[in-house]
Amino acid sequence: MVKKPVRVRFAPAPTGYLHVGGARTALFNYLFARRHKGTFVLRVEDTDPARSSEEFYASIVEALRWLGLEWEEGPEVGGKYGPYRQSERRAVYDEALTRMQEAGTAYECFCTPEELEARREEMRAAGEAPRYDGRCAELSPEARAGLRAQGREPCLRFRMAAGADLAYDDLIRGRVEIKAAELDDFVIARPDGSPTYNFVCAVDDAAMAISHVIRGEDHISNTPRQIAVYRALGADLPLFAHVPLLLGPDKSRLSKRHGAKSVLEYREEGYLPEAFVNFLALLGWSYDDEREFFSLKELTKHFSLERVAKKGAVFDVEKLTWMNGTYLRKLSPEELFERARPWLEAANLFAWDDEAAVEVARRALALEHEKIKTLAEAPSLIDFFFAEHVTYDEKAEKNLRKLPGGVDMLRDLAEVCAALDDFSAAALEKRIRALAEERDLGAGKIIHAMRAALTGRAVGPSLFDLAALLGQERVVRRLAEATAVFKKPG
Ligand code: GLU
Repeated sequence: MVKKPVRVRFAPAPTGYLHVGGARTALFNYLFARRHKGTFVLRVEDTDPARSSEEFYASIVEALRWLGLEWEEGPEVGGKYGPYRQSERRAVYDEALTRMQEAGTAYECFCTPEELEARREEMRAAGEAPRYDGRCAELSPEARAGLRAQGREPCLRFRMAAGADLAYDDLIRGRVEIKAAELDDFVIARPDGSPTYNFVCAVDDAAMAISHVIRGEDHISNTPRQIAVYRALGADLPLFAHVPLLLGPDKSRLSKRHGAKSVLEYREEGYLPEAFVNFLALLGWSYDDEREFFSLKELTKHFSLERVAKKGAVFDVEKLTWMNGTYLRKLSPEELFERARPWLEAANLFAWDDEAAVEVARRALALEHEKIKTLAEAPSLIDFFFAEHVTYDEKAEKNLRKLPGGVDMLRDLAEVCAALDDFSAAALEKRIRALAEERDLGAGKIIHAMRAALTGRAVGPSLFDLAALLGQERVVRRLAEATAVFKKPG
């Protein structure tokens, strides 16, 4: 069901970094807005000054921009329903609170936290569900003045209309039944006047003419209270869509131990935003249960809430990595190099004003194009090209030792390489294979040992390509230096 005009919002609290769950919610809102030519609003829920921070705010904005989820209204861009940071909207809330007090849909409550807790304890002891008992619901003006005179500061509570039906049709979950009688009169403003989440959320969704509230399933329990506030404000209800929880591969709620990190950490680890967005879109949504690859633009064409599942969506970081690799392979070698550049620069492997070195790096990375999974891997995939001396990992040492003929054979290989006039990959390959035949050896052992000698590793790009790129001089030197391995006890 689509209510027009479509206006949706992503409403993060800047009390932490943007995590995958939040990013997925933002994406679904963005896609829904785009699909229906609506408006995507960013609203920052920073009413809790103790937990909110500018650093978190800035990082959320940065993460959304990295993902390409630009908002038409919100902080930084403005809009006619602003301001879009709740900390700047106090006047709007005060006005609504006054209106509700006058209408009797909000009342002052003077109970102290200790008194409330004691009464809740009694209810628990009596086997009842603890709730506010409505003690202050009908206080006369004199009684209120008396309590004030005792130095008590009231909070404001919402008066639940007895008998009201707060059921609604969730666009993903279907009918959600809930009666007002199941809910107590909840606090909408604290004694210091600061308003609470359920109240400000409903006030703002109404004030900003939000048509669809698309958010995480963890907010389902807040929805009836927010519906009650909407009604008290005389506002039209938006439609609600609660997207499924994210789960780890073990089907428990997604947490750090499943690799759930902040979005910007994934950026640092070298994931491409287009791969990340594609991966996020499939967390609870599917096109036809088969097709997996979509650009952001394609997603805006195909996304629909009807295709969002009710059941929890499994977040599998291995799938993300696989997807990222697939996206990396779609880049041209030049694009790959440009996008890996920040990581290469940070690794400081060579001087960027040395054009020859930059060219080697570009070609070296191209040799790894089939294998690279994240941009952050780029430096470690090519660093051996720039090392003064090779250090051999355990497997590389093993492969060296397996070279039939050992030190003598390494020396022969160095000589053969030094004697080549044409040091192209093809010429080198021809020569090495001929040598293997002359000595009646399998070429494999020679190739593995040479790779180990040249790179220090057991795996890497095609030996002949990498050797040609390293150049004759360094190949000969590295083969000579590798003889040292045979002098070590092993
Ligand atoms: N600030 C709330 C959160 O970050 C927003 C929930 C909502 O979308 O209503 O969870």
